[in-house]
Amino acid sequence: MVKGTTSFGRMNKGATHIICRRCGRRSYNKRKHYCAACGFGRSKRIREYSWQNKPLTRAYRLV
Ligand SMILES: [Zn+2]
Repeated sequence: MVKGTTSFGRMNKGATHIICRRCGRRSYNKRKHYCAACGFGRSKRIREYSWQNKPLTRAYRLV
C-alpha cells in the first residue's frame, strides 16, 4: 500500500477544509474550526502576510 493506485481510493473521503465564511476560500478546517487562509475562528484579525501572493477575497474561490 503506497502512493500509487491502491491509495487513490482514499482520496475522496470527506473534505478537511470547507468554504470559509470570511474569505471565501476552501480553507476552513472542519475539525479544528479555523481557516488556514485568513485565520477565521483563530484570530479576530485577518491572517495576512507579505510573502503570500494569493489574495484573500471572496472573488477568489476554490470550490
Ligand atoms: Zn478564511
